[in-house]
Amino acid sequence: MFSRIINYFKKPSLEWYEPDDPTPREQCPCCDYISLAERGNYLICKVCFWEDDGQDLDQIDEESAPNHYITLRKGRENFQSVGACEESMLKHVVTKKGREAYECHPRIID
Ligand SMILES: [Zn+2]
Repeated sequence: MFSRIINYFKKPSLEWYEPDDPTPREQCPCCDYISLAERGNYLICKVCFWEDDGQDLDQIDEESAPNHYITLRKGRENFQSVGACEESMLKHVVTKKGREAYECHPRIID
């Protein structure tokens, strides 16, 4: 009985997904910095704190569940105006100086 309980707690718990190679090489759909190691794996961008579920500019007006149901368009606007995908995330993002560690390829949207 006890071992059963112990085994229950030994089960792998929910762990934060980390890619094997965390080198940034993919473009964040929100801030356009090359800040993600992979796309679509719910990695969080260090530059703007967008959580990437694979959504991109072709779905810019769809609400993003992992990002508190804001649209990607709203996230991009927030990044331009306050420096994070949402103002409340500003405390988590890298500093403006820290951004220099990442390449940026700004994309113009309509
Ligand atoms: Zn970003």
